[in-house]
Amino acid sequence: MTSAEIISLSDRYLFPIYARAPLALVRGEGTRVWDADGRCYLDFFSSTVVTALGHAHPAVVHAIEEQARRILHVSNLHYCEPQARLAEQLVAHSFADRVFLCNSGAEANEAAIKLARKYGHDQGGGRYEILTALGSFHGRTLATVAATAQEKVQAGFQPLPEGFRYAAFDDVAALEAAITPRTIAVMLEPIQGEGGVVVPRADYLRQVRRLCDRHQLLLILDEIQTGMGRTGTLFAYEQAGVTPDIVTLAKGLGSGVPIGAMLAADPVAASFVTGAHGSTFGGNALACAVALAVLDTLRAEGLLANCQQMGARLRAGLARLQRKFPVIQEVRGQGLLIGAALSESAAGVVERCLAAGLIINCTAQRVLRFTPPLTVSAADVDEALAILERALAS
Ligand code: PLP
Repeated sequence: MTSAEIISLSDRYLFPIYARAPLALVRGEGTRVWDADGRCYLDFFSSTVVTALGHAHPAVVHAIEEQARRILHVSNLHYCEPQARLAEQLVAHSFADRVFLCNSGAEANEAAIKLARKYGHDQGGGRYEILTALGSFHGRTLATVAATAQEKVQAGFQPLPEGFRYAAFDDVAALEAAITPRTIAVMLEPIQGEGGVVVPRADYLRQVRRLCDRHQLLLILDEIQTGMGRTGTLFAYEQAGVTPDIVTLAKGLGSGVPIGAMLAADPVAASFVTGAHGSTFGGNALACAVALAVLDTLRAEGLLANCQQMGARLRAGLARLQRKFPVIQEVRGQGLLIGAALSESAAGVVERCLAAGLIINCTAQRVLRFTPPLTVSAADVDEALAILERALAS
């Protein structure tokens, strides 16, 4: 099929819920993707911050082939090796004692919300409220929409599940003021991704941790976008210098194969007893085999270091463009989660980049977001900057 045919068929039969660019991709390799008409693009979006290892990484392809030949799916009423090994690895490399595996970010956050509520219940009840931040994004299920403090995400879906209160991001006093006797947890993104790559002050999460300790609240970190090496360490909480109680992951965990995870430390983890939660496909053997390969490859190929180096190169290049083009107001981010805030809508720049062969996206209307695969090379970064420079100039 041609791009035009794929687009027309999609527009005819799918719900028009996504604001899509006219791009129909059929193949990818590393940081490059090809559309149905054979045109090549440099992918600095990683298909919504998902393809951490780039496209068609040999380790991912091998894991899929091997696992597909053995067994694709094992019921959660039985045991399966990739699931056991993935949980072991996630615990070994994090603060956590227990892992719940699921299929998406929203599901991981639903699990975190349910675990916090169950913990509150087990502690004697009465505490179930979760504080989240204005401008946050936690998913599209009803509970995660309620957790997402954005009018545009919630509009039309009321009544939403109750039990969520909101406070300004990067403002500990506002968070403290929102605490009530019913509060059980604070849920935050270490960097607000969809909200416009908003990086809080360096000591924000440490102060939130202290606040949580003082009020006996759980600290839930949504690392669905920041986790799996995206900010230069496996988890962003490592750089913030805090130990959370619950962390959620998805996106880069499967580098393109759908998988999510909710990690928790004792004693809160102990509240998920037999029968408390579950998922048919959660911890699927194929998805777990791939996530294991992703974790192995992050280490084997030194991708955390590459993420830090390429992130610094990209930020330096963007800072140079900022000096040349006053429309760029601020360059911010960590590792390869980088935003350039413009003084006007970023949509035109995104369109011109796409026309010139570079895929980036725009969040919060005015922020260009750069999230290339963690395997990105210096030559890729320089090429992307050159395309962006021409798009800004025209
Ligand atoms: N949390 C954060 C921080 C996200 O960025 C996203 C997706 O963009 C989600 C949750 C929801 O993940 P999913 O779309 O896999 O449900």
